[in-house]
Amino acid sequence: MASEADLDNEDFSYAADQVLVKQYLDDIHEPEAMSEEEKNARKEAIKQLLKEEDAVLVAHYYTDPEIQSLAEETGGCVSDSLEMARFGNDHDAQTLMVAGVKFMGETAKILNPEKRILMPTLEATCSLDVGCPADEFKAFCEEHADRTVVVYANTSAAVKALSDWVVTSSIALDVAEHLHDKGEKILWAPDKHLGNYVRRESGADLIAWDGACIVHEEFKARGIEDLRAVYPEAAVLAHPESPRAVLEIADRVGSTTQIINAAEELPNKQFIVATDQGIFYQLQHRMPDKEFIIAPTAGSGASCRSCAHCPWMAMNVLERLEQSLREGSNEIHVDPELAKRAVIPLERMLNFAKSMKKTVIGNA
Ligand code: SF4
Repeated sequence: MASEADLDNEDFSYAADQVLVKQYLDDIHEPEAMSEEEKNARKEAIKQLLKEEDAVLVAHYYTDPEIQSLAEETGGCVSDSLEMARFGNDHDAQTLMVAGVKFMGETAKILNPEKRILMPTLEATCSLDVGCPADEFKAFCEEHADRTVVVYANTSAAVKALSDWVVTSSIALDVAEHLHDKGEKILWAPDKHLGNYVRRESGADLIAWDGACIVHEEFKARGIEDLRAVYPEAAVLAHPESPRAVLEIADRVGSTTQIINAAEELPNKQFIVATDQGIFYQLQHRMPDKEFIIAPTAGSGASCRSCAHCPWMAMNVLERLEQSLREGSNEIHVDPELAKRAVIPLERMLNFAKSMKKTVIGNA
């Protein structure tokens, strides 16, 4: 568990340095570059396979632009993981091709158990997920049995099954305030920065697991201040998985969808954006007259294993997507007993959101 002081220190630790996370990062190999001709041929083949397999492509905002545009062109969706799963639920297709990281495929399967869920790769994971193994987390929960267990969507099905609530970044604060009002104490996992943000904003009694996102943890407040001196009219938009010092200087803090909405609402013409640069495709596509600048990740103490782009999201490439559709490989399976437990906290969040008439958007 991270202490409050640790949680507030942006240089305290880097997820990329944690042994478990590092092992996964070391296993990533860069995909081979493709010619434009090959790319186009693969895109056409994927479009045909989607039809033949009664499949729809649902992609996360952090995947590469060519995957996002393919999802849009073929009637799929580009969104955050909960919206991806809900889109899949509402869509008639019997196969969902989920381009993202593994917990997103698992969430889609938990919410759509009767559908076939495929992914371009099963090796694409998340530092929050691998940094929170279910057995260790179970022991942590048992040590603090008096607390309500709230976990972020970026967790395995096994960790979700241990929780009372699953939340996304857009609803985390509302749930924490709701629990705080009822006098409940919170055990939060796995992102310490988001947990710390929620604790500060809600005033809840909250202890947090010591996890972090390797992408957002690398943003530096000092670097952003330096950049703002160059672009004095720019508004700073930050995801709450970023360190506290970054959030304190941001003009808006929010989930992926909230960042897009803020850029649309604010009158500024320039934005410094502290989240994965995959989102720039959507930002630029929707607001061609505005300028988006990636927040810096360099500087003292920077490990820069991601350099503002998630290495696991980057594993979603056309070649793997086509292969998975053609062979039916990389299917997501979730143990039905586990899924029965994991769906309870997920549905609790969805029902809570419905009662608030709030859209549940925004995990990583
Ligand atoms: S960007 Fe961060 S939170 Fe999102 S999948 Fe990658 S490591 Fe996980």
